[in-house]
Amino acid sequence: MSFTITIDKRKVLVDEGCTLIDAAADNGVFIPNLCYTRGKPCLGTCRVCSVRVNGKVTAACTVPVQPGMVVDVNEPEVAEMRKLLVEALFSEGNHNCPSCEKSGRCELQAVAYEVEMTASPFPYRFPKREREDAADHIFLERDRCIFCQRCVEHVRDEETGQAIFAIHGRGTKARIEIDVGLANKLTPEQVHAAAELCPVGCILEKGVGFEDPMGSRKFDVKSLRRRMLEGETS
Ligand code: SF4
Ligand code: SF4
Repeated sequence: MSFTITIDKRKVLVDEGCTLIDAAADNGVFIPNLCYTRGKPCLGTCRVCSVRVNGKVTAACTVPVQPGMVVDVNEPEVAEMRKLLVEALFSEGNHNCPSCEKSGRCELQAVAYEVEMTASPFPYRFPKREREDAADHIFLERDRCIFCQRCVEHVRDEETGQAIFAIHGRGTKARIEIDVGLANKLTPEQVHAAAELCPVGCILEKGVGFEDPMGSRKFDVKSLRRRMLEGETS
């Protein structure tokens, strides 16, 4: 069944059961996001897709469309709030993009361009989180983790369904952990998929880096916005 909702004062036709973030993309409205992956359930951890729904701020990745819904995406106050959330993520980690192998393929960096962030107004925390290199083919640059939980939810052992990644600790003590035994069972394709799933340069494939020159990298070729509006997963 289809019905209409209003996004940024425009009536659009949407399908019942569709998540608001997808319905918006299908109607040409880009909503920045980091923890969401199209077609996969989402916990709404990053809140970067916050919009106003019927007057209340909510994460667009967690909301199914409802008839008559009124949504503000690009209203200045809501857009500014999303920008502040992205700026806070940069302050929470160590993000030195020019030296990062994920640069040009990183969703956090791509979203920062989309919200027109230049520098974070928040004090930088410069967290010290030890790197993890015990797995055969995966390296964790923990201080770039934004705790989106994509890896925790979607990277699992094929036989047992056990999670391979987990977040341990809380607040400033939180850090991403890896089950080395299970990680070592992943095929090269699965390792690559896990690294691609991570929206930042935290999960990295060992022996791989800076593969594409500037100008040919993922988001140089096609922006995050265009990918989303064309229905790609990221
Ligand atoms: S993870 Fe992304 S935002 Fe962080 S340093 Fe690397 S490219 Fe920059
Ligand atoms: S390692 Fe990557 S995918 Fe996993 S929680 Fe951190 S940022 Fe998200």
